[in-house]
Amino acid sequence: MRIVLLGPPGVGKGTQAKLVAAKHKLEKISTGDLLRAELANRTELGKLAEQYMRQGMLVPDDIVNKMVAEKIASLGPGAGFLLDGYPRTIAQAVALEAALQTLGANIDKVIAFQSDENTLLERIRGRAEIENRSDDDAQTALNRFRIYQQETAPLIDHYKKSDLLIEINASGDIETVNNLVEEALAG
Ligand code: ADP
Repeated sequence: MRIVLLGPPGVGKGTQAKLVAAKHKLEKISTGDLLRAELANRTELGKLAEQYMRQGMLVPDDIVNKMVAEKIASLGPGAGFLLDGYPRTIAQAVALEAALQTLGANIDKVIAFQSDENTLLERIRGRAEIENRSDDDAQTALNRFRIYQQETAPLIDHYKKSDLLIEINASGDIETVNNLVEEALAG
């Protein structure tokens, strides 16, 4: 099974990604986590990505595409995985399709989480207090929303067209949302 999780910042993608990956024994590929690891290790890639991430901007497509393509290739052709935070642009979706094609693999389902903006901003504020993520301050959070609307939301239509999309209301608590995700995967 190969799954893509889509959704605005604060929607709970990362939390659901962990639960789904553990339950279905899928490799979780989170570009946010991969980039934060590069940053922590002070790699060239990390140093380049840092300036974008701090401002809540997207790291350029070619950098992220290469990072994910290498990760996917390293898993081998038969591996199941779950993508959390990738693709985030149409160009990334196209690159992902190309990377999968070379492996003879495909995406099975795309789950798009939705919630209202107030709920999302409240969750980001809560997370900022707990995790102290430098990209969770108010201005950066707004930037990330704007960029989500401009760059990532168009992916919903993109995946609707290929009939892979399942939309999920992520306003409920973790367990409620997880039950919806499991229903969607079973269906
Ligand atoms: P969230 O889950 O809150 O949306 P992430 O942890 O997925 O945040 O991402 C944090 C930051 O890492 C993003 O704001 C962006 O700068 C960078 N990033 C993560 N994934 C991508 C991607 N697919 N393309 C470009 N930038 C990315």
